[in-house]
Amino acid sequence: MTPSEIGNFSFRYTSINSFQQQLAEGATTCVQVVNYYLAQIASQKHLNAFTAIFNSAALERAAELDLRLSDSNQMLPLHGVVVAIKDVLCYKGHPVTAASHVLENFESIYNATAVQRLLDAGAIVIGMCNCDEFAMGSTNENSAYGPVLNALDNERVPGGSSGGSAVAVQAGLCMVSLGSDTGGSVRQPADFCGVVGLKPTYGRISRYGLIAYASSFDQIGIFGNSVQDVAKVLEVIAGPDDMDGTCSACAVEKYTVTPQKQDNRKYRFAYLVPTIELPGLDTEIKQAIEGLFKKLRSEGHSVEGIPFPLLEYIVPAYYILTTAEASSNLGRFDGVRYGPQAKDVKLTLTEFYKLNRSNGFGKEVKRRIMLGSFVLSAGYYDAYFTKAQQLRRLIFDQTEAIFANFDAILMPVSPTTAFKLGEKMADPVAMYLADIYTVFANLAGLPAMAIPMYKHSNGMGFGIQVLTNRFKEVCLHRISEMLSNTI
Ligand code: GLN
Repeated sequence: MTPSEIGNFSFRYTSINSFQQQLAEGATTCVQVVNYYLAQIASQKHLNAFTAIFNSAALERAAELDLRLSDSNQMLPLHGVVVAIKDVLCYKGHPVTAASHVLENFESIYNATAVQRLLDAGAIVIGMCNCDEFAMGSTNENSAYGPVLNALDNERVPGGSSGGSAVAVQAGLCMVSLGSDTGGSVRQPADFCGVVGLKPTYGRISRYGLIAYASSFDQIGIFGNSVQDVAKVLEVIAGPDDMDGTCSACAVEKYTVTPQKQDNRKYRFAYLVPTIELPGLDTEIKQAIEGLFKKLRSEGHSVEGIPFPLLEYIVPAYYILTTAEASSNLGRFDGVRYGPQAKDVKLTLTEFYKLNRSNGFGKEVKRRIMLGSFVLSAGYYDAYFTKAQQLRRLIFDQTEAIFANFDAILMPVSPTTAFKLGEKMADPVAMYLADIYTVFANLAGLPAMAIPMYKHSNGMGFGIQVLTNRFKEVCLHRISEMLSNTI
């Protein structure tokens, strides 16, 4: 984020706290920063990070917030914070497309709970971020609106599916952003773009108003420049919600932690041995992570390898269960309730649905609907769906056992740094296998954070992933804060 001049206003974003300090001192205004970000977005259009930008609505809101502050001198928790949201979250009166032609020209008629809480806390939504269609993908190349480019190297992908949200933070086009994480879609793009990415515990944030991909996996996640910024947003959007029966009643704790310097806790870290021994793991990533384990041990923490023979089954289980759920969730997009309709009146109802869905969905979404319908079909249900559910149960039980003895699990976020555009598009299985480190948290419902730490010799960044037990976000943030100060 280089300082930029708009008229005679210069702004440099470092953190929510310091921005709010500037607001309080009158050194800046919400209108000024919204203008600043709109100018940044316009100058970085080639990155294709946004599917919609809300210029006038964002400026109007900024003016209201400025007035409120000068009238009452009251700073809301996220007063003036400029947020970008993934194009799968409903923001009333604004378009939401899931990066699909099927939702072309559709406008949200209500706010997602997370969006409502952001707004109530004084945040400003500046636009919708590009993503893989219906959040299905790992590179953002499955969007009906074209791929998003990694801001560090425009020939590389930003990761996916929340690639636009990751790039929006990476390129300084907003302060923080929201994504969704069903199998890694916040953590992997965060890793590819060198920003912090959090997937909270399943049920920590309401899914009301999040367009469903796989409902028992989906969770809204947060991108930011620091663990502290992410924690601040989580405190606002987490918590019980009557509109989502899977949202936990667990109280929201204080996730913002004081800098690690005073914290001398010694942690018990575990790593799953096969995650480090995976043949596809890039050697520089492997070395960096082994180096980190050494360093942590030298600082008095324990880092212990534990066997985990189930690792090879987790990607297949994830793709069986999520495609099954997706085939059901996406049934509603039929051209009657949503989406462009075929105009030929002579079609039978089945032909009409077929045509609308064939025209509306992209290739990857169709592949997953078919896969999901297959694993749920009468002859194959037990062989695939039931088996995958049983595996999910085993993973769940084994993670409980791990967390009886350890505070956190450490693992890579991705076996490689950001791929080149097009590199993996011809081979969906290779693309799916690259999700090996991220789907674990979703299968087990665990919270996990991706923290940028290292630079690869190819110029791209990568980091480490921390996982804690369910609803142990306080511990997750504390450890993440410590690790982000380690390098
Ligand atoms: N890459 C994974 C997939 O394609 C993750 C997607 C997600 O988390 N939304 O399913």
